[in-house]
Amino acid sequence: MIGFDPTEEQVAIRQMALDFAANEIAPHAMEWDEAKTFPVETLRAAAALGFGAIYVAEDVGGSGLSRLDAAMIFEALSTGCPAVASYISIHNMCAWMVDRFGSEEQRQAWLPSLATMECLASYCLTEPGAGSDAAALKTRARRDGDEYVLDGQKQFISGAGASHLYVVMARTGDDGPRGISTFLVPGDAPGLSFGANERKMGWNAQPTRAVVLDGVRVPAANRLGEEGVGFRIAMAGLDGGRLNIAACSLGGAQAALDKALAYMAERRAFGHALSEFQALQFRLADMATDLEVARTFLWRAAAALDAKASDATTLCAMAKRFVTDAGSAVANQALQLHGGYGYLSEYGIEKLVRDLRVHQILEGTNEIMRLIIARSLVRGR
Ligand SMILES: Cc1cc2nc3c(=O)[nH]c(=O)nc-3n(C[C@H](O)[C@H](O)[C@H](O)COP(=O)(O)OP(=O)(O)OC[C@H]3O[C@@H](n4cnc5c(N)ncnc54)[C@H](O)[C@@H]3O)c2cc1C
Repeated sequence: MIGFDPTEEQVAIRQMALDFAANEIAPHAMEWDEAKTFPVETLRAAAALGFGAIYVAEDVGGSGLSRLDAAMIFEALSTGCPAVASYISIHNMCAWMVDRFGSEEQRQAWLPSLATMECLASYCLTEPGAGSDAAALKTRARRDGDEYVLDGQKQFISGAGASHLYVVMARTGDDGPRGISTFLVPGDAPGLSFGANERKMGWNAQPTRAVVLDGVRVPAANRLGEEGVGFRIAMAGLDGGRLNIAACSLGGAQAALDKALAYMAERRAFGHALSEFQALQFRLADMATDLEVARTFLWRAAAALDAKASDATTLCAMAKRFVTDAGSAVANQALQLHGGYGYLSEYGIEKLVRDLRVHQILEGTNEIMRLIIARSLVRGR
């Protein structure tokens, strides 16, 4: 039986996230973007509503919700600011990795404070020489008695410098994915340092920095899972991460469409409101249709991940590719419908276009999403 109606509980959670986005995030989003402010207290207020560890088990402070619930929450939060919602999504991905693959000690040590976002987390996979080809990463973790010593550099790390926990993928074995392990590195570990906050097109309400590991020692007990399964852990995290990033595109694009609708009802040209021109009405119809298709498919992929379906990874890649492309296209159309005013920062539309653009690049580029989908097709034959 396929159902498309959210339950009463989902409607209530989504409304709570929408209200939080409208009251606590949206009023400050432009200022945070301009000043490059990472609004940590607002993140903690979101966590107080249960958004810091959405699909983490309740025994360690998580909300115990589903991926589908999370998709609805991230769409709603993103209507306030995609950059803020996206950082929360990365933090949630890390928390889930600890919950799913961590020992009982690791779960108890980290998850209660991750759930409240007293402790913020960063996901460290990308390196200067290994982006799309992440399995080529070079950061080393050498075993030394009861410790590992980590050396290397991670690039483009969201939240870096502000986070308290770094989930680091590093090489413990041979070249290739099976030589990679995952480590929980505390933010105050000696030898850990950070590059400058990158100057970037969007996502200014969260820092992006290089993470440098120079002889960083962590207890062997900080390894997440067995040696050699780190790449699998990293990819498992990304299945859900991709749904969340897609949901953030959806929320940002929905906000852009809503702004366009309001603007077009007021703006007049040739003696009419813009919303009276049929050519523009048709454009609005296409934008709304594209978002509804994107939303429906995102929910389908989230439900597949919840059900641990065998094709869940492929569906998550399809959703990430389709929804982030659709979200960017709709936001860009909304800018066009604002005319010259859309190009001014005051209207908030150009920020949405800038923020959503990177969703087509990170957590695996949309080309890499096609690679994952195509591989499953070709293998399936
Ligand atoms: C703002 C921001 C935040 C980020 N946050 C994080 C983070 O928190 N943690 C983290 O680990 N990483 C993070 N990243 C890194 C991001 O995941 C990578 O930038 C991304 O995976 C692409 O890697 P790359 O930049 O090295 O591009 P490259 O891998 O060099 O790719 C360049 C181009 O070639 C294409 N390409 C590469 N290989 C193929 C192929 N086989 N077939 C077809 N096309 C191909 C790519 O799609 C892309 O268009 C972030 C990036 C940005 C910009």
